[in-house]
Amino acid sequence: MRHDLVVIGGGPAGYAAALYGASAGLDVGLVEENLIGGTCLHVGCIPAKELLETASVLRAVKGASEFGVDAGGAEPTVDLAVSQERKRGVIDNLFKGLGSLLSGRGVTVYDGTGRLGPDHTVTVEHGEGSDQVGTSTLQAGHVVLATGSSPRSIAGFEVDGDLVVTSDELLSITEVPARVVVVGGGVIGCEFASMLSDLGSEVTVLEALPEILVGCDADVAKAVRRSFRRRGISVHTGVSVSGHEPSGGSTVVRFGDDQVEVDLVVMAVGRSPRGDAAGLVGTRVEVDERGFISVNDRLLTGEPGVYAVGDVVATPQLAHVAFAEGMFVVRDLLGESPLPLDAATVPWCIYTHPEVAFAGLTEVAAREAGYDVVVSSHRFVGNGRAMIVGETDGLVKVVAEAGLDGRAGRILGVHMVGPWVTEQLGQGYLAVNWEATVDDVAAHIQPHPTLSELFGETVLSLTGRSLHG
Ligand code: NAD
Repeated sequence: MRHDLVVIGGGPAGYAAALYGASAGLDVGLVEENLIGGTCLHVGCIPAKELLETASVLRAVKGASEFGVDAGGAEPTVDLAVSQERKRGVIDNLFKGLGSLLSGRGVTVYDGTGRLGPDHTVTVEHGEGSDQVGTSTLQAGHVVLATGSSPRSIAGFEVDGDLVVTSDELLSITEVPARVVVVGGGVIGCEFASMLSDLGSEVTVLEALPEILVGCDADVAKAVRRSFRRRGISVHTGVSVSGHEPSGGSTVVRFGDDQVEVDLVVMAVGRSPRGDAAGLVGTRVEVDERGFISVNDRLLTGEPGVYAVGDVVATPQLAHVAFAEGMFVVRDLLGESPLPLDAATVPWCIYTHPEVAFAGLTEVAAREAGYDVVVSSHRFVGNGRAMIVGETDGLVKVVAEAGLDGRAGRILGVHMVGPWVTEQLGQGYLAVNWEATVDDVAAHIQPHPTLSELFGETVLSLTGRSLHG
């Protein structure tokens, strides 16, 4: 079978390349050995955010009396089995939708493990349970490798799905564990810590680095940490985790000179790229020592006409970056010369409570890059809508380049922590990526009363005048 484009891996990166390629008129084959939708849809973004929403609803019901709403008197509880059922429904709907999109655009989906050999030949070994049998051999004009990543663990913590779990297993729990250690205070670790704490677990986070949420602006990470402390989440940074000793149904986790007894250990120490998952024998595709496929700034591997996208390349492991890369390579192979993606300006959204969202340079990164910067931060505590919704924790911080006169000019970074900031980042992202100046943005009206007024207020104050701030 011959296709203009064969994509190996049907997660966000792969299915984006397939859908976008098909909408550009290419004949596309998409090979997937598990489920179309990949980590994001089945064991990542979607189920995690769905369970975080359960946690948020529980929190809202617990706080209902503050609004004069009688939620029935008794302490609200959560039935995770029901929540899991709801999560299943959301995933199933999206999964069906994705299947329809692919078939509607004429993408040929191959069930099985795809292996790239010489001359753009892809062999698909169909697994058990597939309608397709044996092996298919595909010939491709271009190939996109999108084989993704898998959760990793560390020495001394064997993942058994019972006492020690990764995100894969945690997202299917049907009972709230009483005491939990989360190893790793990165994005996954903090989201799970936040969710489990809301659901009623006693949570300890163990992070090797000096601060949680590396990559976030220091003021934002500090705000999350303060909020976690207030909620009773115990965060230990700069600690080395040396192992654990199970006994009965629990286990004792050792870190530094300390230890903690828990019922569950959640490993959140990063994800390993699956660079070798598509064979690649007889090709010039190179996989580095960490398992990433080596690519240039056009996401081309060493083999002409073969691209790699998504978690399997060393760019931010985010579904929306995967979408963007999938679309980028289609435009590139069509000769449209798209601008290479800039990892430093992609949007980040972290669904902890409080939420985090940012795009562009942190204050420290901007100074390290040699910019003279002017910075302004405003807190949600003075924002009307934040008071109305009862979520005044957090801030907006804008980092701008200083002109020769010392006035704030181009916006280099927008950093938010607080209520619904994942839904508020849009204009900050545009400002950074449009290379807008403080004056450009300040000229626009912010609707009132909104949480996003705080972004407008913060930018306005950088013009040298302000309204409420
Ligand atoms: P991560 O790299 O963001 O964080 C892992 C953390 O674990 C780091 O802070 C690291 O210092 C720490 N760590 C590593 N080894 C340790 C040890 N032995 N003891 C203590 N701490 C240790 O990785 P993650 O949180 O597992 O997430 C994986 C990927 O998935 C990331 O790239 C992340 O961006 C992405 N992701 C993003 C979102 C989102 O954007 N909302 C959600 C989930 C996952």
